[in-house]
Amino acid sequence: MPSTEYAAIVVGASFAGLAVARQLKGRVLLLDRNEVGAVQTSACGTPLWVAEALGVASSVLQVHERLTVRTGRYSITYDLSAVPFCTFDYRKFCQGLLAQCEARFLKTPVTEFREGSVVTPDGTFSAPIVVDCSGWRGVVVNKTAVKPERGAYTFGLEAHTPVQDDGLTFFIDRDVVAQGLGWVFPVGDGSLIGIGSYAGRSKLRQSLERYLDTHGVVPGAYHGTYFPNRFGRATVGQVFAVGDAAGQCLPLTAEGIRPALYFGGECGKIVQQVMAGSSTLASGLARYHAQVGRYRKAYGFLQAIQWLTVHAPPSWLALLTKLAAHRPLHPRWWPRYGRFGRFGPAEAPA
Ligand SMILES: Cc1cc2nc3c(=O)[nH]c(=O)nc-3n(C[C@H](O)[C@H](O)[C@H](O)COP(=O)(O)OP(=O)(O)OC[C@H]3O[C@@H](n4cnc5c(N)ncnc54)[C@H](O)[C@@H]3O)c2cc1C
Repeated sequence: MPSTEYAAIVVGASFAGLAVARQLKGRVLLLDRNEVGAVQTSACGTPLWVAEALGVASSVLQVHERLTVRTGRYSITYDLSAVPFCTFDYRKFCQGLLAQCEARFLKTPVTEFREGSVVTPDGTFSAPIVVDCSGWRGVVVNKTAVKPERGAYTFGLEAHTPVQDDGLTFFIDRDVVAQGLGWVFPVGDGSLIGIGSYAGRSKLRQSLERYLDTHGVVPGAYHGTYFPNRFGRATVGQVFAVGDAAGQCLPLTAEGIRPALYFGGECGKIVQQVMAGSSTLASGLARYHAQVGRYRKAYGFLQAIQWLTVHAPPSWLALLTKLAAHRPLHPRWWPRYGRFGRFGPAEAPA
């Protein structure tokens, strides 16, 4: 099939890909194997300001000003009111971002990448700039298939349930999941209840079913997948990588949406400068790489707490969780964490 030329190709049209594409003007191709917003993989929890700053606040399902963390017998409530969280409708959120993009969208899977060209069943497309936003598999930057069972990936599985009376909750219960955590994310008409294994154990269905059964909850549809818990590579050769494809999901909290949107916006602005000729591709790649690299220490810190969550005795864990919920620690860390990636005025809807 003939090759079609573009100025830039973005592979993957979820959080990362849409955040990149909404910054771009010109001949841009946005590819995804699914329709935009059709396949939800996450609980879709993020700070409320994220949806507001991106002009997709109408996708918000529920706002949360409290988070309860349960460890063994202890239950600790965090005040989130300084930076409230929300859960949102994935389809509406993504469709809202797509409406802000000028790129041509094509629903097709990328099956191969050759320097500067992506191969799909609908043809081969080439561009001097390629951005990999294809999620944990990183289909462009990872030449061979990723083996997630070898560490660096968490596996998460959740079910839609009718539970309505619980607030936003995380629970650490080693009888339910040995090296991981569980969550209850209320989403307006019920709650997504899930468990995640930091060790990347993907056979979680029985444990989740047992947990739900014990609590008398009847599950609806399940969904789940891997996501990274270790900082990866922001550029590989001539290719930019964003979101889970670059290992940008935050360790410990498994928050991957906000980093994908933030780094996607930053990458998109750099790519736009390269497309406009005010920067070379080499310097654009170097700048993006350096910009992402500034967060390495923060990711390392969260990874260390993730390690503690798995290895510390439960009584220590309860004590640490309690300390973090109160003065002087809580007013220092929560607003700082909650505002990470705050979009400046340049990232207002394109
Ligand atoms: C159960 C679960 C719950 C989670 N809950 C939360 C949460 O509440 N809050 C939060 O912040 N994070 C959460 N996460 C993590 C979060 O979902 C990810 O970090 C986030 O989705 C990463 O965004 P992304 O755009 O990089 O990748 P993805 O959202 O995975 O998007 C990748 C896109 O690439 C497309 N694609 C893949 N392969 C190809 C191909 N070969 N050709 C074309 N297109 C392709 C896919 O169809 C998809 O649209 C959760 C994850 C899981 C598994």
